[in-house]
Amino acid sequence: MNAPQRVTTWDVEAVRADFPILAQTVHGKPLAYLDNAATTQKPNAVIDAIAHFYRHDNANIHRGVHALAERATIAYEAAREAARRFLNARSANEIVFVRGTTEAINLVAASFGARFQPGDEVIVTAMEHHANIVPWQLVQARTGIVLKVIPMDESGALQTEQLAALITPRTRLVAVTHVSNALGTINPVAELIAIAHQHGVPVLVDGAQAVPHMPVDVQALDADFYCFSGHKLFGPTGIGVLYGKAELLESMPPYQGGGDMIRTVSFEKSTFAPPPQRFEAGTPHIAGAIGLKAAIEYLERLDRLAALRYEQELLAYATERLQTVPGLKIVGTAPEKAAVVSFTIDGIHPHDLGTIVDRYGVAIRVGHHCAMPVMTFFGVPATARASFAFYNTFAEIDQLTDALHRARDLLV
Ligand code: PLP
Repeated sequence: MNAPQRVTTWDVEAVRADFPILAQTVHGKPLAYLDNAATTQKPNAVIDAIAHFYRHDNANIHRGVHALAERATIAYEAAREAARRFLNARSANEIVFVRGTTEAINLVAASFGARFQPGDEVIVTAMEHHANIVPWQLVQARTGIVLKVIPMDESGALQTEQLAALITPRTRLVAVTHVSNALGTINPVAELIAIAHQHGVPVLVDGAQAVPHMPVDVQALDADFYCFSGHKLFGPTGIGVLYGKAELLESMPPYQGGGDMIRTVSFEKSTFAPPPQRFEAGTPHIAGAIGLKAAIEYLERLDRLAALRYEQELLAYATERLQTVPGLKIVGTAPEKAAVVSFTIDGIHPHDLGTIVDRYGVAIRVGHHCAMPVMTFFGVPATARASFAFYNTFAEIDQLTDALHRARDLLV
């Protein structure tokens, strides 16, 4: 089959040259890295920024007066400013560095959730990652809150119109994923936020799978909290961002106690620093923040709308090509999707599929993708998932498709 007509001028080869890991063979085949929803690869700019920090500037931040401590502090705070710019937050004080999306949601659950009373409600969607389910269940176990779920339809599209009916005077927060990692569905978060706000309810958006694919403006969305992980955004692991509106963060108690988050400490009583320091106890992942800044600056140098259009072409091509494999069923066919394709093949366990395509150099993810309720909804124990970034190619999709045909010949 010939590749479809291309409309973008995306120079994928130039972009690939920025990512050294992609130029390797696996089991003697060119690597086709199609596991970007799990984690993305890192451009030289990120690798170099981290190495430069450790070679030249490494010191602990905020507390030192020597030259290295000052340089490290300036670099760390510059990373906060980069994250502010990236999300178009009003102030860098609205940017809290965390380990990743999981920690961001746990922070909000523990701190914002500390005010919840028995019978208060949190509303999530049917397609959440476990990171936006389990923290609320922990609050539920402590406080007796009620967890409600916005349903999705058979295509994996959210039934947005159900939200208004789920909201009651006891609803304290709506917590929704922007893009589903298991299905690729893009949720209409602006609309969800508008509905929640009509009822005076704040909204947390899990942006882990959105920010790698599309520009996000937290002010335009009017999101109350927005979080993402650096490692899914071409940056390092162990660093992520929680954005929170200033007035909300200021109203919240600390999440963890220790150094850096205090104003004064005595054995009788301690007082706390204002946000964001209030939520950053202990030595943070300084090199991680610096790597994240490099990732953000790398993205700022790209034409992100062209990248998005290119990824949508990859998605359309993959959707078409994969369906040439007999017995293949795509799980998640919502009209608005990011470049993620989850699928099953009749008679083959996804784990066997993953193992076989790996022999052909193709890296995909198999399993429940930390979204067990999604698997239950679709009546499958697991799926195989190919997830794309702007450095993937049409040839890699052909490589995946061929590998799946081979797997089927072998196993069915
Ligand atoms: N939310 C979504 C939608 C995700 O896809 C993921 C990771 O796969 C997470 C949250 C958790 O991210 P992390 O493991 O980086 O904390």
